[in-house]
Amino acid sequence: MKSAEILAHLVSFPVLGGESNSSIATWIENYLTEHQVEFKNVPNEDGTKRSIHCRIGPAVDDGIVLSGHTDVVPVEGQDWKTDPFTLTDIGDENLYARGSCDMKGFIACCLAAVPAIKKAPLKKPIYFAFSYDEEVGCLAGPALAADINNHYSERPKYALIGEPSMMKPIIGQKGICIFKTTLNGSAGHSSRIKSEVSAISEAAKLIVWLENKMDALIQAGDIDHRFQPAHSTIHCGVFDKSGIAPNVISDSASFMWDVRVIPKNKAVAIKDEFVAYCASVIEKNRERFPEFDIQTEYAHSDVPAMDCPEGSDIIPLIRSLVEDKALGTVSYAAEAGQFAEAGFQTMICGPGDIAQAHRANEFVAKFQLDACDRMLINLISTLSK
Ligand SMILES: [Zn+2]
Repeated sequence: MKSAEILAHLVSFPVLGGESNSSIATWIENYLTEHQVEFKNVPNEDGTKRSIHCRIGPAVDDGIVLSGHTDVVPVEGQDWKTDPFTLTDIGDENLYARGSCDMKGFIACCLAAVPAIKKAPLKKPIYFAFSYDEEVGCLAGPALAADINNHYSERPKYALIGEPSMMKPIIGQKGICIFKTTLNGSAGHSSRIKSEVSAISEAAKLIVWLENKMDALIQAGDIDHRFQPAHSTIHCGVFDKSGIAPNVISDSASFMWDVRVIPKNKAVAIKDEFVAYCASVIEKNRERFPEFDIQTEYAHSDVPAMDCPEGSDIIPLIRSLVEDKALGTVSYAAEAGQFAEAGFQTMICGPGDIAQAHRANEFVAKFQLDACDRMLINLISTLSK
Protein backbone atom coordinates (compact mmCIF):
# COMPACT_ATOMS: atom_id res chain seq x y z
CA MET A 1 0.00 0.00 0.00
CA LYS A 2 1.12 3.52 -0.76
CA SER A 3 1.17 6.25 1.90
CA ALA A 4 -2.13 7.80 0.79
CA GLU A 5 -3.92 4.42 0.87
CA ILE A 6 -2.68 3.78 4.39
CA LEU A 7 -3.62 7.33 5.38
CA ALA A 8 -7.19 6.64 4.19
CA HIS A 9 -7.36 3.75 6.67
CA LEU A 10 -5.79 5.73 9.53
CA VAL A 11 -8.11 8.75 9.26
CA SER A 12 -11.18 6.48 9.29
CA PHE A 13 -10.59 5.85 13.02
CA PRO A 14 -12.04 8.93 14.77
CA VAL A 15 -9.87 8.57 17.87
CA LEU A 16 -9.86 11.86 19.76
CA GLY A 17 -7.31 12.76 22.39
CA GLY A 18 -8.52 11.29 25.69
CA GLU A 19 -10.43 8.42 24.03
CA SER A 20 -9.42 4.78 23.64
CA ASN A 21 -7.13 4.39 20.62
CA SER A 22 -7.66 0.63 20.50
CA SER A 23 -9.27 0.70 17.02
CA ILE A 24 -6.41 2.45 15.23
CA ALA A 25 -3.78 0.65 17.32
CA THR A 26 -5.23 -2.72 16.29
CA TRP A 27 -5.15 -1.72 12.61
CA ILE A 28 -1.48 -0.66 12.89
CA GLU A 29 -0.59 -3.85 14.80
CA ASN A 30 -2.28 -6.03 12.15
CA TYR A 31 -0.35 -4.20 9.44
CA LEU A 32 2.94 -4.76 11.28
CA THR A 33 2.09 -8.43 11.84
CA GLU A 34 1.28 -8.91 8.14
CA HIS A 35 4.79 -7.63 7.44
CA GLN A 36 6.33 -9.91 10.08
CA VAL A 37 7.32 -6.99 12.32
CA GLU A 38 7.24 -7.73 16.05
CA PHE A 39 5.96 -4.89 18.20
CA LYS A 40 5.51 -4.07 21.87
CA ASN A 41 2.64 -2.21 23.53
CA VAL A 42 2.86 0.37 26.29
CA PRO A 43 -0.68 0.43 27.74
CA ASN A 44 -2.21 3.03 30.03
CA GLU A 45 -3.27 2.02 33.55
CA ASP A 46 -6.68 0.56 32.70
CA GLY A 47 -5.59 -0.92 29.39
CA THR A 48 -7.97 1.17 27.25
CA LYS A 49 -5.17 2.91 25.36
CA ARG A 50 -1.78 1.83 24.16
CA SER A 51 1.34 3.11 22.50
CA ILE A 52 3.14 0.83 20.05
CA HIS A 53 6.84 0.54 19.37
CA CYS A 54 8.88 -1.79 17.22
CA ARG A 55 12.34 -2.21 15.76
CA ILE A 56 13.17 -3.15 12.20
CA GLY A 57 16.81 -3.94 11.52
CA PRO A 58 19.73 -5.18 13.56
CA ALA A 59 19.82 -4.95 17.37
CA VAL A 60 22.74 -2.51 17.46
CA ASP A 61 23.19 0.93 19.02
CA ASP A 62 22.64 4.29 17.32
CA GLY A 63 19.37 3.64 15.50
CA ILE A 64 16.61 6.19 14.93
CA VAL A 65 13.09 6.31 16.37
CA LEU A 66 10.33 7.64 14.09
CA SER A 67 7.53 8.91 16.28
CA GLY A 68 3.94 10.01 15.82
CA HIS A 69 0.65 10.20 17.73
CA THR A 70 -2.51 8.30 16.80
CA ASP A 71 -5.07 10.73 18.31
CA VAL A 72 -6.63 13.83 16.79
CA VAL A 73 -8.57 16.91 17.97
CA PRO A 74 -12.41 17.15 17.77
CA VAL A 75 -14.38 18.35 14.74
CA GLU A 76 -17.44 19.61 16.68
CA GLY A 77 -18.54 23.09 15.71
CA GLN A 78 -16.22 23.24 12.71
CA ASP A 79 -17.53 23.89 9.20
CA TRP A 80 -16.31 20.82 7.31
CA LYS A 81 -17.08 20.62 3.57
CA THR A 82 -16.29 16.88 3.47
CA ASP A 83 -16.65 13.98 5.92
CA PRO A 84 -13.76 14.61 8.34
CA PHE A 85 -13.17 10.88 8.84
CA THR A 86 -13.04 9.96 5.14
CA LEU A 87 -9.89 10.86 3.24
CA THR A 88 -11.21 12.97 0.38
CA ASP A 89 -9.53 14.05 -2.83
CA ILE A 90 -11.46 16.97 -4.32
CA GLY A 91 -9.03 17.27 -7.22
CA ASP A 92 -6.86 20.11 -5.88
CA GLU A 93 -3.71 18.10 -5.03
CA ASN A 94 -4.65 17.98 -1.34
CA LEU A 95 -6.08 15.15 0.75
CA TYR A 96 -8.72 16.25 3.26
CA ALA A 97 -9.52 14.63 6.62
CA ARG A 98 -9.07 15.18 10.34
CA GLY A 99 -5.55 14.00 11.15
CA SER A 100 -4.38 14.01 7.53
CA CYS A 101 -1.84 16.66 8.51
CA ASP A 102 -1.58 16.31 12.31
CA MET A 103 -0.22 13.72 12.15
CA LYS A 104 -1.40 10.52 10.56
CA GLY A 105 0.27 11.51 7.27
CA PHE A 106 3.66 10.85 8.86
CA ILE A 107 2.54 7.54 10.38
CA ALA A 108 1.17 6.49 6.96
CA CYS A 109 4.53 7.24 5.31
CA CYS A 110 6.35 5.22 8.03
CA LEU A 111 4.06 2.22 7.54
CA ALA A 112 4.27 2.45 3.73
CA ALA A 113 8.06 2.27 4.06
CA VAL A 114 7.97 -1.01 6.02
CA PRO A 115 8.55 -3.32 3.02
CA ALA A 116 11.54 -1.21 1.90
CA ILE A 117 12.94 -1.03 5.45
CA LYS A 118 12.60 -4.81 5.80
CA LYS A 119 14.33 -5.48 2.50
CA ALA A 120 17.24 -3.08 3.08
CA PRO A 121 20.60 -4.28 4.45
CA LEU A 122 20.33 -1.88 7.41
CA LYS A 123 23.48 -1.37 9.46
CA LYS A 124 21.50 0.63 12.05
CA PRO A 125 17.90 -0.06 13.05
CA ILE A 126 14.75 2.00 12.51
CA TYR A 127 12.16 2.07 15.28
CA PHE A 128 8.54 3.22 15.18
CA ALA A 129 6.94 4.81 18.25
CA PHE A 130 3.24 5.62 18.02
CA SER A 131 1.53 7.23 21.03
CA TYR A 132 -1.96 8.26 22.20
CA ASP A 133 -3.36 11.30 24.07
CA GLU A 134 -0.84 13.70 22.54
CA GLU A 135 -3.55 16.25 21.82
CA VAL A 136 -4.63 16.43 25.47
CA GLY A 137 -1.21 17.17 26.92
CA CYS A 138 1.39 14.78 25.43
CA LEU A 139 0.42 12.31 28.16
CA ALA A 140 1.92 9.12 26.70
CA GLY A 141 5.25 10.40 25.36
CA PRO A 142 7.40 9.98 28.51
CA ALA A 143 6.29 6.36 29.17
CA LEU A 144 6.77 5.45 25.50
CA ALA A 145 10.28 6.92 25.35
CA ALA A 146 11.19 5.23 28.66
CA ASP A 147 9.88 1.86 27.49
CA ILE A 148 11.97 2.04 24.32
CA ASN A 149 15.03 2.71 26.48
CA ASN A 150 14.20 -0.23 28.77
CA HIS A 151 12.92 -2.81 26.30
CA TYR A 152 15.77 -3.04 23.82
CA SER A 153 19.20 -4.32 24.77
CA GLU A 154 20.74 -1.83 22.35
CA ARG A 155 20.34 1.93 22.63
CA PRO A 156 18.73 4.04 19.86
CA LYS A 157 20.43 7.41 19.52
CA TYR A 158 18.00 9.59 17.57
CA ALA A 159 14.29 10.45 17.60
CA LEU A 160 12.50 12.12 14.73
CA ILE A 161 9.02 13.41 15.59
CA GLY A 162 6.92 13.68 12.42
CA GLU A 163 4.77 16.66 13.42
CA PRO A 164 3.78 18.83 10.46
CA SER A 165 6.71 21.07 9.53
CA MET A 166 6.34 21.19 5.72
CA MET A 167 9.25 18.73 5.76
CA LYS A 168 11.57 21.39 7.18
CA PRO A 169 14.09 20.20 9.77
CA ILE A 170 13.08 21.64 13.16
CA ILE A 171 15.64 21.97 15.96
CA GLY A 172 13.61 23.77 18.62
CA GLN A 173 10.14 23.65 20.12
CA LYS A 174 8.62 25.79 22.86
CA GLY A 175 7.48 24.04 26.02
CA ILE A 176 3.93 24.46 27.29
CA CYS A 177 2.15 24.14 30.59
CA ILE A 178 -1.34 25.20 31.72
CA PHE A 179 -2.34 26.01 35.30
CA LYS A 180 -5.59 26.66 37.13
CA THR A 181 -5.57 29.03 40.08
CA THR A 182 -8.52 29.12 42.50
CA LEU A 183 -9.11 31.73 45.20
CA ASN A 184 -11.30 31.49 48.28
CA GLY A 185 -12.39 34.93 49.52
CA SER A 186 -14.95 36.15 52.03
CA ALA A 187 -18.52 37.06 51.05
CA GLY A 188 -20.17 40.17 52.38
CA HIS A 189 -21.92 43.46 51.64
CA SER A 190 -19.92 45.43 49.08
CA SER A 191 -19.71 48.38 51.46
CA ARG A 192 -17.45 46.22 53.64
CA ILE A 193 -14.79 45.79 50.95
CA LYS A 194 -12.07 47.18 53.23
CA SER A 195 -12.93 44.57 55.90
CA GLU A 196 -13.47 41.51 53.67
CA VAL A 197 -11.30 39.86 50.98
CA SER A 198 -12.67 39.94 47.43
CA ALA A 199 -11.62 36.86 45.46
CA ILE A 200 -12.10 38.74 42.17
CA SER A 201 -9.93 41.62 43.26
CA GLU A 202 -7.10 39.36 44.49
CA ALA A 203 -7.33 37.24 41.31
CA ALA A 204 -7.06 40.32 39.12
CA LYS A 205 -3.86 41.36 40.92
CA LEU A 206 -2.40 37.87 40.42
CA ILE A 207 -3.11 38.05 36.69
CA VAL A 208 -1.29 41.37 36.54
CA TRP A 209 1.61 39.73 38.42
CA LEU A 210 1.78 37.05 35.72
CA GLU A 211 1.86 39.62 32.95
CA ASN A 212 4.57 41.55 34.77
CA LYS A 213 6.53 38.31 35.17
CA MET A 214 6.46 37.82 31.39
CA ASP A 215 7.74 41.36 30.89
CA ALA A 216 10.43 40.84 33.55
CA LEU A 217 11.76 37.79 31.69
CA ILE A 218 11.97 39.84 28.50
CA GLN A 219 13.67 42.72 30.38
CA ALA A 220 16.15 40.24 31.85
CA GLY A 221 17.18 39.29 28.33
CA ASP A 222 15.56 35.86 28.14
CA ILE A 223 15.24 36.07 24.37
CA ASP A 224 15.70 33.33 21.78
CA HIS A 225 15.51 34.75 18.27
CA ARG A 226 14.92 31.32 16.75
CA PHE A 227 11.31 31.52 17.99
CA GLN A 228 8.35 33.67 17.07
CA PRO A 229 7.73 35.45 19.42
CA ALA A 230 11.31 35.30 20.69
CA HIS A 231 10.38 35.16 24.39
CA SER A 232 8.35 33.02 26.77
CA THR A 233 4.70 33.98 27.02
CA ILE A 234 2.38 33.91 30.05
CA HIS A 235 -1.30 34.49 29.41
CA CYS A 236 -4.62 34.17 31.27
CA GLY A 237 -7.30 32.87 28.89
CA VAL A 238 -10.13 31.83 31.22
CA PHE A 239 -11.60 33.72 34.18
CA ASP A 240 -14.70 32.17 35.62
CA LYS A 241 -17.16 31.56 38.46
CA SER A 242 -16.74 34.93 40.01
CA GLY A 243 -19.36 36.85 41.91
CA ILE A 244 -23.15 36.76 42.15
CA ALA A 245 -24.11 40.44 42.21
CA PRO A 246 -22.43 43.85 41.90
CA ASN A 247 -23.16 44.62 45.54
CA VAL A 248 -21.86 41.32 46.96
CA ILE A 249 -18.17 40.73 47.58
CA SER A 250 -17.13 37.65 45.63
CA ASP A 251 -16.06 34.70 47.78
CA SER A 252 -14.54 32.68 44.95
CA ALA A 253 -12.74 33.14 41.66
CA SER A 254 -10.65 30.97 39.40
CA PHE A 255 -8.62 31.50 36.28
CA MET A 256 -6.53 29.44 33.88
CA TRP A 257 -3.22 30.53 32.47
CA ASP A 258 -0.76 29.08 30.02
CA VAL A 259 2.99 29.35 29.87
CA ARG A 260 4.87 28.77 26.62
CA VAL A 261 8.57 28.76 27.30
CA ILE A 262 11.66 29.14 25.18
CA PRO A 263 14.19 26.41 26.08
CA LYS A 264 16.12 28.61 28.57
CA ASN A 265 13.00 29.18 30.72
CA LYS A 266 11.17 26.50 32.70
CA ALA A 267 7.41 26.59 33.29
CA VAL A 268 7.82 24.92 36.68
CA ALA A 269 10.21 27.68 37.81
CA ILE A 270 7.67 30.35 36.82
CA LYS A 271 4.92 28.42 38.65
CA ASP A 272 7.10 28.05 41.77
CA GLU A 273 7.80 31.78 41.84
CA PHE A 274 4.08 32.49 41.39
CA VAL A 275 3.16 30.11 44.23
CA ALA A 276 5.74 31.77 46.50
CA TYR A 277 4.21 35.16 45.71
CA CYS A 278 0.74 33.74 46.42
CA ALA A 279 1.97 32.59 49.84
CA SER A 280 2.76 36.21 50.75
CA VAL A 281 -0.67 37.32 49.48
CA ILE A 282 -2.33 34.57 51.55
CA GLU A 283 -0.48 35.60 54.67
CA LYS A 284 -1.42 39.25 54.29
CA ASN A 285 -5.12 38.58 53.63
CA ARG A 286 -5.54 36.03 56.40
CA GLU A 287 -5.28 38.89 58.87
CA ARG A 288 -8.71 39.96 57.59
CA PHE A 289 -10.13 36.56 56.62
CA PRO A 290 -8.43 33.49 58.15
CA GLU A 291 -9.83 31.07 55.51
CA PHE A 292 -8.47 33.04 52.57
CA ASP A 293 -6.60 30.70 50.23
CA ILE A 294 -5.07 30.45 46.77
CA GLN A 295 -4.51 27.05 45.14
CA THR A 296 -2.65 26.50 41.85
CA GLU A 297 -2.83 23.14 40.06
CA TYR A 298 -1.68 21.72 36.75
CA ALA A 299 -4.44 21.70 34.10
CA HIS A 300 -2.07 20.27 31.47
CA SER A 301 1.09 18.31 32.09
CA ASP A 302 4.37 20.17 31.73
CA VAL A 303 5.53 19.54 28.17
CA PRO A 304 9.19 20.50 28.06
CA ALA A 305 10.76 22.59 25.32
CA MET A 306 13.02 20.90 22.77
CA ASP A 307 16.37 22.47 22.01
CA CYS A 308 18.60 20.37 19.78
CA PRO A 309 22.13 21.51 20.70
CA GLU A 310 24.33 22.88 17.94
CA GLY A 311 26.80 20.24 16.88
CA SER A 312 24.42 17.30 17.49
CA ASP A 313 24.97 14.74 14.75
CA ILE A 314 21.22 14.35 14.19
CA ILE A 315 21.24 17.80 12.52
CA PRO A 316 23.46 16.88 9.53
CA LEU A 317 21.75 13.47 9.40
CA ILE A 318 18.23 14.89 8.95
CA ARG A 319 19.42 17.73 6.71
CA SER A 320 21.01 15.17 4.40
CA LEU A 321 17.62 13.44 4.00
CA VAL A 322 15.39 16.42 3.15
CA GLU A 323 15.22 18.86 0.26
CA ASP A 324 14.61 22.04 2.31
CA LYS A 325 17.67 22.20 4.55
CA ALA A 326 16.96 25.47 6.39
CA LEU A 327 16.73 24.76 10.13
CA GLY A 328 13.63 26.08 11.88
CA THR A 329 11.78 26.15 15.20
CA VAL A 330 8.11 25.76 16.12
CA SER A 331 5.96 27.21 18.90
CA TYR A 332 3.49 24.32 19.19
CA ALA A 333 3.67 21.62 21.84
CA ALA A 334 4.89 18.17 20.77
CA GLU A 335 6.49 15.08 22.23
CA ALA A 336 9.92 16.17 20.97
CA GLY A 337 11.03 17.71 24.29
CA GLN A 338 9.98 14.52 26.10
CA PHE A 339 12.07 12.32 23.80
CA ALA A 340 14.99 14.73 24.25
CA GLU A 341 14.62 14.47 28.04
CA ALA A 342 14.70 10.67 27.69
CA GLY A 343 18.16 10.98 26.16
CA PHE A 344 17.54 10.90 22.41
CA GLN A 345 18.99 13.46 20.02
CA THR A 346 15.67 14.80 18.79
CA MET A 347 14.33 16.83 15.89
CA ILE A 348 10.92 17.41 14.29
CA CYS A 349 10.24 16.92 10.58
CA GLY A 350 7.00 15.83 8.99
CA PRO A 351 4.57 16.36 6.13
CA GLY A 352 1.91 19.08 6.08
CA ASP A 353 1.58 22.58 7.44
CA ILE A 354 0.69 23.21 11.09
CA ALA A 355 -1.51 26.06 9.78
CA GLN A 356 -3.89 23.36 8.47
CA ALA A 357 -3.97 21.42 11.74
CA HIS A 358 -6.81 21.53 14.30
CA ARG A 359 -9.18 23.42 11.94
CA ALA A 360 -12.03 22.61 9.58
CA ASN A 361 -11.04 21.09 6.24
CA GLU A 362 -7.63 19.98 7.49
CA PHE A 363 -5.55 18.62 4.64
CA VAL A 364 -2.14 17.36 3.69
CA ALA A 365 -0.76 18.25 0.27
CA LYS A 366 0.09 15.20 -1.83
CA PHE A 367 3.54 16.61 -2.59
CA GLN A 368 4.20 16.68 1.15
CA LEU A 369 3.48 12.95 1.50
CA ASP A 370 5.74 12.35 -1.50
CA ALA A 371 8.51 14.41 0.12
CA CYS A 372 8.15 12.40 3.35
CA ASP A 373 8.30 9.13 1.40
CA ARG A 374 11.54 10.36 -0.21
CA MET A 375 13.01 11.34 3.17
CA LEU A 376 12.37 7.81 4.47
CA ILE A 377 13.88 6.22 1.35
CA ASN A 378 16.97 8.40 1.89
CA LEU A 379 17.06 7.40 5.55
CA ILE A 380 16.96 3.72 4.64
CA SER A 381 19.85 4.08 2.21
CA THR A 382 21.90 6.19 4.68
CA LEU A 383 21.45 3.59 7.42
CA SER A 384 22.37 0.79 4.99
CA LYS A 385 25.79 2.25 4.26
ZN1 LIG B 1 0.33 16.64 16.40
